[in-house]
Amino acid sequence: MIKTDALIIGAGPVGIFCVHQLGIIGLKCEVVDNLDKIGGQCIELYPDKPIYDIPALTKCTGEELTNNLIEQIKPFKTNFHLNERVEEIKKDKKNWIIKTNKSKEFEAPNIIIAGGVGSFEPRKFSAQEAEKFEGQQLFYSVKDKKIFKDKTISIFGGGDSALDWAIELSNTSKIILVHRRDDFRGAQTSIDKIHKLKKEGKIEIYTKYQLKSVTGKNNIEKIIIKHENESEKEIKTDYVLGFFGLIMKLGPITEWGLNIDKKHIPVSTENFETNQKGIFAIGDICTYPGKLKLILSGFHEGALAARECFKYARPDEKLRFEFSTTSKATHERLGIKK
Ligand SMILES: Cc1cc2nc3c(=O)[nH]c(=O)nc-3n(C[C@H](O)[C@H](O)[C@H](O)COP(=O)(O)OP(=O)(O)OC[C@H]3O[C@@H](n4cnc5c(N)ncnc54)[C@H](O)[C@@H]3O)c2cc1C
Repeated sequence: MIKTDALIIGAGPVGIFCVHQLGIIGLKCEVVDNLDKIGGQCIELYPDKPIYDIPALTKCTGEELTNNLIEQIKPFKTNFHLNERVEEIKKDKKNWIIKTNKSKEFEAPNIIIAGGVGSFEPRKFSAQEAEKFEGQQLFYSVKDKKIFKDKTISIFGGGDSALDWAIELSNTSKIILVHRRDDFRGAQTSIDKIHKLKKEGKIEIYTKYQLKSVTGKNNIEKIIIKHENESEKEIKTDYVLGFFGLIMKLGPITEWGLNIDKKHIPVSTENFETNQKGIFAIGDICTYPGKLKLILSGFHEGALAARECFKYARPDEKLRFEFSTTSKATHERLGIKK
């Protein structure tokens, strides 16, 4: 059981900045995110796109913003629990007990939901047998590319992820690229490279095909792909990779006894608390009259939620309002030496 002052659900920009706001008033927190990296939509959906409305930054990309936010919270040495989804929460006396899908447990007087549009999850194959091999020889992301060396890999999808991995893994493996349409959607340079690799005999390409079935006893032995004209093809393969993009699911958040209004959590604008004491919602997931789904609004929401968290985490203390320019306590927490 990990005990902390606040558990933040979601490592998007708003969740990360809230770590800072808790940290400078002396509160500890832990952060859980379903994704394998920090940054939420900024890193998953638009890492290279410039953002123009972050105060005092004329222009920065989703990735630059994320890196700056991570740098800013370094002094607090916060633990991020990635690839984990918060599944269950329950009240135990004054504290909340929070459980993830990997059975990790946290105890905290405060939960801050910064879950954006919900947890990002990969769109999966509909072929039923695919589930049996998921996580063994069938994957929706690549964690360790070494396992694919000298093997045959069937890659499904027509976007950047499918093309980039087909190109990269073709250096060490036999690649079969399958896409349900004729045209690929990725960057033109990647499409050109794929066609070049095909000409060189390094990649086989099948378009207008989809996965029909996966077979094998313990490991995948072969797959059958089906053309839009109903003809079928059998392919011997060791691994299957699917890159069909991500879907966003509110998922378990809807089962925690919170008021939900059109997939959003209504909050009080005084402190961003939900209808449950000690549970806050900030960023894209919260709603209130006049809500703007902007990063800057989420920063403000996190600042107020953090101060309310102080009341539950330190009921016998009073929080004094201080500026970061002049607060000695803040400077100490940030490790600033004068
Ligand atoms: C293409 C595009 C361009 C944009 N441009 C701008 C712009 O110029 N300016 C601007 O201000 N905003 C912009 N936005 C909007 C901005 O990205 C969002 O407002 C912002 O990302 C919201 O931050 P967040 O931290 O609330 O949520 P998110 O960034 O969505 O992060 C939420 C995180 O919570 C995780 N999560 C959810 N549920 C769970 C769970 N149960 N367990 C574990 N983890 C969970 C998710 O995996 C995700 O990583 C843009 C958005 C897009 C898509």
